[in-house]
Amino acid sequence: MRIDLHTHSTASDGTQTPAELVRAAHDAGLDVLGLTDHDTAEGWTQAVEAAEEVGITLVRGMEISTRFAGRGAHLLAYLPDPTYEPLAHALQLILDGRNARVPIALERLRDLGYDIHMEDVRRAAGDTAAYGRPHIADALVARGAFEDRTQVFSALLNPGRPAYVDRYAAPLEEMIRTVDEAGGVTVLAHPWGRHGPKAIGRAELARLRELGLAGIEVDHQDHGEDARAELREIADDLDLLPTGSSDHHGTGKTDHELGCNTTSPEVYERLLKLAEDAANRSGRRVPEVVAP
Ligand code: AMP
Ligand code: FE
Ligand code: FE
Ligand code: ZN
Repeated sequence: MRIDLHTHSTASDGTQTPAELVRAAHDAGLDVLGLTDHDTAEGWTQAVEAAEEVGITLVRGMEISTRFAGRGAHLLAYLPDPTYEPLAHALQLILDGRNARVPIALERLRDLGYDIHMEDVRRAAGDTAAYGRPHIADALVARGAFEDRTQVFSALLNPGRPAYVDRYAAPLEEMIRTVDEAGGVTVLAHPWGRHGPKAIGRAELARLRELGLAGIEVDHQDHGEDARAELREIADDLDLLPTGSSDHHGTGKTDHELGCNTTSPEVYERLLKLAEDAANRSGRRVPEVVAP
């Protein structure tokens, strides 16, 4: 069983439509795919249709933009009811922040001499529900100003670079509870990815576990061997589920091919059990796992 629980489609900042992503996952020999677009469930319907067509197991989820100790933290939420009002409201605030940021970044880019406008970003983004820096990067690449997304991030869009604009993210502790109330289960994405072990250490993870966090993404391309080993040990000590996933973005991110990291069947089953418990506690109508 090959299980990849963290991927993106054009509903956020991936480059494959949900249907293309599902078919690519099937072609890559995956048995279980988690669709986790940033801050939106917009890709779910199309992904379900495609999963039923090709015969792959699909877990509907999302990767929610949160803030913890003054820094960004990505929270994977699996199988929540996206219509649960507090969750829907929080996601709308995040999406509003994403939308509001784009024109500010574009103005800065124009000040820097790049002739780039909202319609360029719209064209690059297709029918995304969650505008992000990758779409601005794509628009600059389309104009021939850069080779790929990574180049643009390094030059302009990473924190500290001239076109970086901060945006709203939901408090992590609150979001863990909100997803639980929505009948879903949470896994902290790449906890030591961008900021290293300093941002969220063992003590913080223990506290988040108390609040209901179910797991941490241990095997992720942003984690080196040492980080993975230490996170695995922490997960074991704290009874957090250690997941592994690709964080695939189509061609938008290199070295994140489907299935490059996977989650063990045992961890997957335990995750589903926790989701089932949360769903029962919540009384919400949650999405089911789509199975062939
Ligand atoms: P945003 O959602 O606007 O905060 O942008 C963050 C997104 O940009 C993340 O989902 C990453 O997938 C993507 N990203 C960050 N750095 C890079 C990079 N160097 N190359 C490609 N994508 C990146
Ligand atoms: Fe992304
Ligand atoms: Fe992430
Ligand atoms: Zn991701």
